[in-house]
Amino acid sequence: MKLPDTIAMLRTLVGEPSTSSITASRDQSNLAVINHLANWLEGLKFAVTVLPLPNKGGKANLIATLGNGEGGLVLSGHTDTVPCDENHWDTDPYTLTEIDSVVHGLGSCDMKGFFPIALEAASLFHSKKLNKPLTILATSDEESSMAGVRQLLRDGRPKADFAIIGEPTGLQPIIAHKGVLALSIVVEGSGGHASNPSLGCNALDAMHAVIADLLIYRQELASTYTNPTFEINIPTLNLGCLHAGDSPNRICETAELQIDLRLMPGMEIEELTTTIQHRLVETIASYGTRLSITRLNEVPAYQTSDDGDLARTLASLSGRPPGTVAFGTEAPFLQSLGMETVVFGPGSIDQAHQPNEYLDLNQLSPARETLENVIRHYCT
Ligand SMILES: [Zn+2]
Repeated sequence: MKLPDTIAMLRTLVGEPSTSSITASRDQSNLAVINHLANWLEGLKFAVTVLPLPNKGGKANLIATLGNGEGGLVLSGHTDTVPCDENHWDTDPYTLTEIDSVVHGLGSCDMKGFFPIALEAASLFHSKKLNKPLTILATSDEESSMAGVRQLLRDGRPKADFAIIGEPTGLQPIIAHKGVLALSIVVEGSGGHASNPSLGCNALDAMHAVIADLLIYRQELASTYTNPTFEINIPTLNLGCLHAGDSPNRICETAELQIDLRLMPGMEIEELTTTIQHRLVETIASYGTRLSITRLNEVPAYQTSDDGDLARTLASLSGRPPGTVAFGTEAPFLQSLGMETVVFGPGSIDQAHQPNEYLDLNQLSPARETLENVIRHYCT
């Protein structure tokens, strides 16, 4: 089977809605996208495995491998997009539309556009013998829960020496990003008439102390983890929302604070959560309230050496030095599977996650050439 051209493949992928969302009513299947990729890759003689997510109907990862043996290279992308509001688009988000040498469409840049380019690069090798296997990886739910890549980590696959994640980096190799940790901090006291404080135990009083301590902790984190390679060069701790009480004349029974931390490489989610838990319990010990912490969302921070083989190869092929970005990716998970992982792909994150998302067509050829050279370097 002959592979359709790049734009035709992208048109097909953009035409299949595959939103992922933690809100069930907005969450969609990614199987249509996975099936197109499976068909094209089978046409290129890849051994294709579609891995449905257990406990999550209508979702699957795909692993497709050309060649045999250990090691090799993985080219990875996610098949889902963020939800979109069609009313804010000038074109139909599901119809790839070319205007002035860019193509508009939901997922065109983040990141359905990577797959046609990767497949086109791979097609140049399908008849040749590879020394090391080439794997195309397509994941589900990156934009919401990262359920797809988390499942791959549990399964311990795929295995390779190197992985490129084709998120939009404007063709600059990216070797680090911050992590995300969103926490719900709940303080529970007991209610009573506002006229007599001894009748209850005020959760908002304790929450006041919690917030004061978090602001001190924020300063401590900033001075410990300053990292000049990031645009925002400190870890951040944002007080996002607070819900508490129901009436001015009642002692506040429950207060919930939600915070968002952006972690520098080197900050571990498990350790941070425990530290916050311990210091807040201590801070409000005299209030007679109970404190509990739940993790709402978490993505590990990621960093790989700028002196790594793949980082150096991509820097030399692209002519761009390795850098850092502010957005999270699946890189820390692929890294945990034992691969040197670098984020490198066409398109700009500035156009992602917003109306009229587009991919600059001028990036297609350089992206394909770089991938072709990387495949040649690591697999032949
Ligand atoms: Zn993305």
